[in-house]
Amino acid sequence: MNKPLHIGVYPGTFDPITFGHFDIIQRATRLVDRLIVGVATNVGKSPLFSIEERIEMIENELTLHPLASDVEIIVKPFDSLLVHFAKQEGAQVLIRGLRAVSDFEYEFQMAGTNRKLCPELETVFLVASESYQLIASNLVREIARYKGDTTPFVSPQVAEKLEKRFLELIY
Ligand code: ADP
Repeated sequence: MNKPLHIGVYPGTFDPITFGHFDIIQRATRLVDRLIVGVATNVGKSPLFSIEERIEMIENELTLHPLASDVEIIVKPFDSLLVHFAKQEGAQVLIRGLRAVSDFEYEFQMAGTNRKLCPELETVFLVASESYQLIASNLVREIARYKGDTTPFVSPQVAEKLEKRFLELIY
């Protein structure tokens, strides 16, 4: 009999993808056979980049830095309740990254709520790697808005897209 696949969903806004997100993707592939990177449409947060742009940036990063494992990574948009999306994808595990104590309260609440909604789905937290702990998409956007250097936090391709987007917003 075939072993059942372990499927994980790593959800987020990824506006844009940072080294911190990429590190979590990389590490999550050690835990599952298939990883779905779920990109939340998240219109409520008025993202800087469209859903298509955010997906394209993640896919680019994955192409430029292919992972050693043969785990299947699929990048997909979702615009529904996270537990519904995870169920639809056949996932047993939700992956989240934890940076600092400040992330904890929100993540704790979300994990508890998702467990109530779908008890068979487990949330797994990966603690941010030391060098990426301080990286957050919102800070990266702020740095780019004021023409700072974002390359310590995102790839040169993403940094270029940020620079271009803020130029477009000015003119
Ligand atoms: P959300 O809109 O859900 O906060 P994000 O795109 O900001 O989504 O982040 C998605 C997930 O990635 C969250 O679990 C977040 O904690 C995690 N994450 C973001 N940045 C980092 C980082 N630098 N290191 C580890 N995890 C991170």
